[in-house]
Amino acid sequence: MVPYAPDAKGAEKSETVRGVLDVLTGGQGDAAARAWIAVCTRSASCNEACPEAVNPMLMLRLAKWRANETGVLPKRDAAETMSRVKVFARLSFSEDEQRDWL
Ligand code: SF4
Repeated sequence: MVPYAPDAKGAEKSETVRGVLDVLTGGQGDAAARAWIAVCTRSASCNEACPEAVNPMLMLRLAKWRANETGVLPKRDAAETMSRVKVFARLSFSEDEQRDWL
């Protein structure tokens, strides 16, 4: 996800993880950590890659929740997100599916 997180590009990996841990404990983290937290898609690809069997996906998920709670990262506007979902549904669902689901 680094291409989608310019602030994380070239950042020292263990420093970035320390930044995520700081956000988890209510701190600000650093720019690279905040960027990584913001772009995580919960793919869980990292879980298999981790030699220590840590669950990085869960770590990022909790860090995002904590960052939203403390204001380190802005909360996404759920209403705006739902309106976008509905647009895609209207574009791709059949009339029957729209009637049943929307
Ligand atoms: S779950 Fe892991 S691999 Fe997937 S985007 Fe998040 S940090 Fe990257």
